[in-house]
Amino acid sequence: MKDFAVVGGGIAGLAVAEMLQRSGASVVLIEKNKTLCAEASAEQQGWFHTGALYTALPNNFFCRTMVGNLDDLVDYYGEFPNMNLRVDKHIYTTNRDGWFSNRTNFYAYTSCAGVSWKWKLPWAVALHRAKRRMSWFETLDASRSLSHQLGFGAKPLQYVVHRSSLGVSLDHVAFALKSRDRAMNTRLIAVDLLRSFLASGGSVQTQTKVLGLEKGAVLAKEAGGEASVKIPARHVILATGKDTTAFETNTKVFISPLMVVYPALTDINFVRMSPHMEKTINHICHRNNGLEYSLIGNAVYHDAQQGTGAVLERVRANMLGLASRVFGQVDAKNADLFFGYKTEVSSSSSIRNYLYHILDRGDYTLALPGKFSLCFSLAVNVCRHFGIEPVEQSRLAEPEAAQALIEEPLHYQMAKRLADQHRTCA
Ligand SMILES: Cc1cc2nc3c(=O)[nH]c(=O)nc-3n(C[C@H](O)[C@H](O)[C@H](O)COP(=O)(O)OP(=O)(O)OC[C@H]3O[C@@H](n4cnc5c(N)ncnc54)[C@H](O)[C@@H]3O)c2cc1C
Repeated sequence: MKDFAVVGGGIAGLAVAEMLQRSGASVVLIEKNKTLCAEASAEQQGWFHTGALYTALPNNFFCRTMVGNLDDLVDYYGEFPNMNLRVDKHIYTTNRDGWFSNRTNFYAYTSCAGVSWKWKLPWAVALHRAKRRMSWFETLDASRSLSHQLGFGAKPLQYVVHRSSLGVSLDHVAFALKSRDRAMNTRLIAVDLLRSFLASGGSVQTQTKVLGLEKGAVLAKEAGGEASVKIPARHVILATGKDTTAFETNTKVFISPLMVVYPALTDINFVRMSPHMEKTINHICHRNNGLEYSLIGNAVYHDAQQGTGAVLERVRANMLGLASRVFGQVDAKNADLFFGYKTEVSSSSSIRNYLYHILDRGDYTLALPGKFSLCFSLAVNVCRHFGIEPVEQSRLAEPEAAQALIEEPLHYQMAKRLADQHRTCA
């Protein structure tokens, strides 16, 4: 009898299982696929959010949650040798090949000249708010808890202004700010979490699909097996991403596009923030095993149930158009597009729900990360939810076993294909 059965081996389930096991509980992690992090956690952009993206929103919540997550990352993951992010008056990485890239991310805010009349005033307010809050980010002092420094408004204004000199064409930019966000190597993070989980005695059961949940056990079917098996555990945690809809009625699933371009269009990481979602564009340059490629996203989401071929074609044309306006003509042969899945707990307001959720449902506890980067706070707070004090120290098993069990991100797989094509054409 284990203390916990964690259902779903995406980043949410893996991070939660690791932190519980590291903190003294016994955990079995159950995943239906052959490998872990093969679904939504393989389809994301690899953008580590510190809150800067949400500074323009009226609600402090997102910003606060992300900063709390940064705190948890520094406090509870600082002993991982690859956790190379340091935060003090500045943010920097201690080496090039760890969890985080050393490239700065920029936020370029469109001026009021570029927005429609309807939006002018609210956008002017949002611009002012973003500038004020982003300057507050620059005054953070990591020697104290970052979250406790959330005193919006009282901080001196120290703008870090980079007047649209990013070397890409972002029309009507009012100002651009440096942020503490970084690109992250999601596979390396997942491999390290699994190494820690295994080193502290956790067990992983792949190719096992959970069919039903009851208090104190899950009913599952193993690949190739005839009958269902009962896996007993004192507590069940559900971290099933988009398949959560099979167990819950109040979750919704969105799809959002990402475009991969090889070779990289630029090495600058940025978001062009616009009140018009379809004009918002972001770019991350990924470097994986010597391959450098662009990953371009926008702010448009679709209901997953309507994700048909027609939507895909329309979105593809739109993304190619957007990218061409910013980077100059993009050759469609060098680009490929996919949709990632995002699961959220339904809320009555129209505001998007990026937060992580830990919800008691009687027979099980639901754990949704909201973002890949929020897996750190999610894990720490699931522990606390069960009255377990999270432990800071970790040790790691040899990398080989863990590497074989973690899927490569979809964007890397696609970039490799595009690079091969590129070589053949050349
Ligand atoms: C386009 C896009 C870009 C994104 N970019 C970023 C980004 O840059 N930064 C960021 O922080 N976040 C990003 N996100 C969000 C991020 O991808 C997700 O929040 C996160 O990966 C979700 O992780 P998860 O573990 O909840 O889900 P998943 O990774 O889908 O894991 C769920 C797991 O449960 C397993 N499972 C399901 N049902 C069962 C069952 N019955 N039995 C056994 N196993 C089961 C599945 O096989 C799967 O492995 C992005 C999302 C989208 C859509």
